[in-house]
Amino acid sequence: MPKLIEEQFRRHLAWTSDAPLGLEVVRAEGSFLYLADGRRIIDFISGIAVSSLGHRHPAVVEAVKAQVDRHLHVMVYGEFIQRPQVELAALLAAQLPPSLQVVYFTMSGTEANEGALKLAKKHTGRTKMIAFDRSYHGDTHGALSVTGRHVYQDPFRPLLPNVEFLPFDSVAALDAIDTETACVITEPIQGEGGINVPSDAWMRALRERCTQTGALLIFDEIQTGFGRTGTLFAFEGFGVTPDVLTLAKAMGGGMPLGAFIAAPEVFSTFRRDPPLSHVTTFGGHPVSCAAAEAALRVLLEEALPARAVEVGRRVRTRLRHPLIHEVRGRGAMLGMELASRAVTERTVRRCLERGVLLGWTLHSNTLVRLAPPLNIPFGVLDEALGIILESLGEGVGESGRRGD
Ligand code: PMP
Repeated sequence: MPKLIEEQFRRHLAWTSDAPLGLEVVRAEGSFLYLADGRRIIDFISGIAVSSLGHRHPAVVEAVKAQVDRHLHVMVYGEFIQRPQVELAALLAAQLPPSLQVVYFTMSGTEANEGALKLAKKHTGRTKMIAFDRSYHGDTHGALSVTGRHVYQDPFRPLLPNVEFLPFDSVAALDAIDTETACVITEPIQGEGGINVPSDAWMRALRERCTQTGALLIFDEIQTGFGRTGTLFAFEGFGVTPDVLTLAKAMGGGMPLGAFIAAPEVFSTFRRDPPLSHVTTFGGHPVSCAAAEAALRVLLEEALPARAVEVGRRVRTRLRHPLIHEVRGRGAMLGMELASRAVTERTVRRCLERGVLLGWTLHSNTLVRLAPPLNIPFGVLDEALGIILESLGEGVGESGRRGD
């Protein structure tokens, strides 16, 4: 007999697949999830690159509690001076170059990208947009329009017109960016596309082409941001600055928050023709902003971007096995390419049975996402890596014979 809560989950929650994980979490702390059946699971995907400080970091919990005691929602975004928003924007700006000093807060990543696309259209007066094959930018109509995978787009057409997709990391293809192009949007390292790191030369050429043509370069750092790739933002690692930076996921320290960031002259476009060109009720919720400020301070004080590099190095050194074709990525944003879909499914399942949560990326069947908390203790990291190797180890001969 399923428990009442499982029955209600089945009946009343909209599922997004026929096979949700369906784990009942009763508590989460640090690198661990605790389940209703008494199991302890090592969270090796951090809620998909969200819990970079681990779950319920004490500084974040304290900031949330303090803000709850002051005020919750008081007014739609951008009208009142709300201290948590202003202080977070200032702290973010202090980490960013002079061209990225104005912050617009949203609740999620897809909304951050929606805002960035609208900003680029309004600022340039152009409509053409360029995006890349295998990109992922979110599931609202605008963000989906620049997401490079037909299988997710096709059921929802018509989408935004005038969007062109180019191959990722191809310098020759960048000629398609022209003086009619409002913006080019890309993840500096593709996440859902399979953890794809482009060359420095492509990044520089992309920046140059956008500057030449006046197209705004949007970096979607929703997954790469907040230390995961070894620098606070991935663009720093490439030495290329975007015109618009979009953020979410780890930003809120576990609370829902996103942002798009640009120069004041770019943002001034939202103030007029008409005024209130882009508004939101809940964007930059004060509790989320208080959590985000605490999370960012921890990230900086504990030098977690550098820790991400150490975590990545340790993972790459230890994860060697005949069924692992490649471990790729940067810092602690990693993907483990396995021999086949069957091996991948089996490994992810076995790891979960043994207490390690791994995951897929949306656009690949053979890539296992590895995104542990950046502050995962090395003892816990080693335990998880041991379980991954053990789960791969069994049935090697069998899968080799079947060629699956
Ligand atoms: N952009 C990127 C690169 C992402 O990884 C995601 C989420 N996987 C999004 C945008 C969408 O963010 P959200 O789910 O918060 O809307």
